[in-house]
Amino acid sequence: MEDYSYLLSPGPVNVPDSVLKAMHHRSIHHRTSEFSSILKQLLQNMEKIFRTEKRVLPVHATGRGALEATITNLFSPGDEIASICNGRFGEMYAGIAETFGLKVHRVCTDWEKDVELETLWDLLKRNPQIKAISVCHNETSTAVENDIKSIARMAHERGAIVMVDTVSSLGGMEFRFDEWEIDVAVAASQKALMAPTGLSFVVLSEKAWDMYGKSTLPKSYFDLASIFKKVSVPDPETPGSTPVALIAALAESSRMILEEGLENVWNRHHRVSTAVKKALEAMGLDLFPVNVTKRSDTVTAFFLPTEITSDAVKHLMYEKFGIVITGGLGPYKKQVIRLGHMGNFFERDCLLLISSIEAVLCMLDERQKPGAGLGSLVESLKGGSS
Ligand code: PLP
Repeated sequence: MEDYSYLLSPGPVNVPDSVLKAMHHRSIHHRTSEFSSILKQLLQNMEKIFRTEKRVLPVHATGRGALEATITNLFSPGDEIASICNGRFGEMYAGIAETFGLKVHRVCTDWEKDVELETLWDLLKRNPQIKAISVCHNETSTAVENDIKSIARMAHERGAIVMVDTVSSLGGMEFRFDEWEIDVAVAASQKALMAPTGLSFVVLSEKAWDMYGKSTLPKSYFDLASIFKKVSVPDPETPGSTPVALIAALAESSRMILEEGLENVWNRHHRVSTAVKKALEAMGLDLFPVNVTKRSDTVTAFFLPTEITSDAVKHLMYEKFGIVITGGLGPYKKQVIRLGHMGNFFERDCLLLISSIEAVLCMLDERQKPGAGLGSLVESLKGGSS
């Protein structure tokens, strides 16, 4: 096996060459104007990608660290929030809040279903003390897009804020922080933003900053006001030592997104996602979960035929083709495969992904015949570009 594996997992993703080149640089000190100009460009690009005029805060951590930061910066022990838990990552946000002494009302806990807005509304009406709703925009564990616009409206009607995990959606799926009146958004580098793992971003609304003023949970490394202060000057910096190479990588990957055009990037993700999903269905596979109205544009999940395990498929994909994909999570670990088609993923990658999946399923099950997936892709891609 060559020492090059191809990542078609729901993050981390393949990093484009020019992003790798941006990191491959002699050392730059983080207290120099040379560094500040790279950071400044990155933050301006990220404002456009979040569709916000608010300050974008870089957090030196993976997505989970930034999610934690939003809890410790806005709340006090005993505060109550509602958490949409229709997947592993919605559950993760809820769990972090509990770790810091918040009372969490879990709603919509069925991984096979969409958010039930009536259930959420009833909960908010019965519990006017709830200060926030946490929700995952794109539930990476189930490949479902949650209806964050409706959830944001509902939160505001009840005087709560909405906190959105956009870790696997930002840069790949439509998201508009200001227009949709989102209060908290968290994103991470290693998904549709096309960079290596290790850097995250947080954006807060004015209401969220008001809550910061009242929060009593301890904060130090993740104190968002200290990050805000450092980036809100003509030559921005970050507190402490800075992962300069990651900042340089993100400056380049965000530039690439804006060069292609953010809406073009969203459309490309929708196009390739639709083509992949249709091809899997043409192969007789059922998408997971079955009962949802909006499927993710960055991730596809599907059920395997009962006699095939996700471990066998993952193993063969890697051994034969050097392609990394992932299995399901939690109760769906064995039965479900999850594929990522985000960031640096184009029509040619659909061909690679579908033909290799089809080949592996044929190798594992003699009854499978090759061709249906590729045939469907040809139809889907006829009109497409790139
Ligand atoms: N939220 C979502 C939606 C994710 O997909 C992930 C990781 O896959 C996380 C949060 C956790 O982020 P990280 O692994 O960067 O800490």
